[in-house]
Amino acid sequence: MKEKQGLSTLCVHGGELKDAHGAPHTPLYNTTTFAFDSTADLLDVVEGRKAGALYTRYGSNPTIQSLEAKLALLEGAESALAFGSGMAATAALFLTHGRDGVVCVGDAYGGTLNLLEKQLPLLGIPTQLLLSQEAGRLASLLSGSKKLVFFETPTNPALEIIDIRAIASLAHDFGALVAVDNTFASPANQRPLAWGADIVVHSATKYLGGHSDLTAGALMGSEALLAPIRAWRSNLGQTIAPETAQLLARSLRTLVVRVERHNENAEAVARALRGHERVKTVYYPGLDDHPGYEVARRQMLGFGGMVTVDVRGYAADAAQVVDRLRLIKIAPSLGGVESLATQPMTTTHHGLSVAERARRGITDTMIRLSIGLEDRDDLVSDLRQALG
Ligand SMILES: *Cc1c(COP(=O)(O)O)cnc(C)c1O
Repeated sequence: MKEKQGLSTLCVHGGELKDAHGAPHTPLYNTTTFAFDSTADLLDVVEGRKAGALYTRYGSNPTIQSLEAKLALLEGAESALAFGSGMAATAALFLTHGRDGVVCVGDAYGGTLNLLEKQLPLLGIPTQLLLSQEAGRLASLLSGSKKLVFFETPTNPALEIIDIRAIASLAHDFGALVAVDNTFASPANQRPLAWGADIVVHSATKYLGGHSDLTAGALMGSEALLAPIRAWRSNLGQTIAPETAQLLARSLRTLVVRVERHNENAEAVARALRGHERVKTVYYPGLDDHPGYEVARRQMLGFGGMVTVDVRGYAADAAQVVDRLRLIKIAPSLGGVESLATQPMTTTHHGLSVAERARRGITDTMIRLSIGLEDRDDLVSDLRQALG
């Protein structure tokens, strides 16, 4: 069983625990601690001579360890760590490997931007935020100390594509580490480690969980890079709860079939909206007029379930379109079975000034769609009636 298995097989079988009762998948160990037959047995586990479960906050709980084994396999990583949220994962990454500074390339999740701009500097951690078109300045920022280069691709909300291989090879020339937030793509559509990234970050709240019913995060990479993060996670108390770990493992078993349908539906919506008289631009990396199309075709296996449309008119016109949607719900998250719509200016990028939004290419008339698993004809007709 050592030969490389396909992603769908790994989703179903990867990391699953064999128990004494023949359960087909890992059961839920909803326990905080684990008992031993003797002090000597306990010390064997505490001192690392034997593998074993000890205390759930450390992550040494079979349900969590089994989930982490599956998560590592899905990104082709040696190791994985599961967290209570995507932000917990990102924060632990920055506090461990970003202490000499973090350079963020391109747009990023609002919480991540807030952490980088407002909070890490309070701890004396230098951070720099580059727009994707400013990536040429990266070299000048990396000489000197050992920095962490961080980016998302596709980005939120304009779905810009950042060339993982190009940024990773440049950053490595300067001895920097490279972390990619792979939340928007999911491992079913993109494997950043294969393109040279060192660490992958996930908000498992999105496609990995996939049903808008759990909050979790993950980091994947080499054991050498994750071991020091595990120590921070323990002491900051950011470990995923076993109940959530079990729910997330359940969701991961259907990741590939879900993401394939997200991809198909999103592409159908993008093509249907392109050319609509009330739509100025459709942003979808699978359309051949998208500026990132060529790179996306190379580094992605599918183009994802997110579509952003820029409608004609003013912010109020875009709000009216959103308010007229019947099937697609107004909510700020993504990656679930149900389709959701938001205006970035009212949610994810609400905290930014008008000038900063403009600098980032985020317009008041943008609507971000997370395309779910409904019938695509129903989604397209809902959008058509909302556009009027
Ligand atoms: C949602 C999100 C996060 C934060 O994840 P939480 O699970 O909400 O903490 C980070 N990055 C991206 C790209 C996201 O969409």
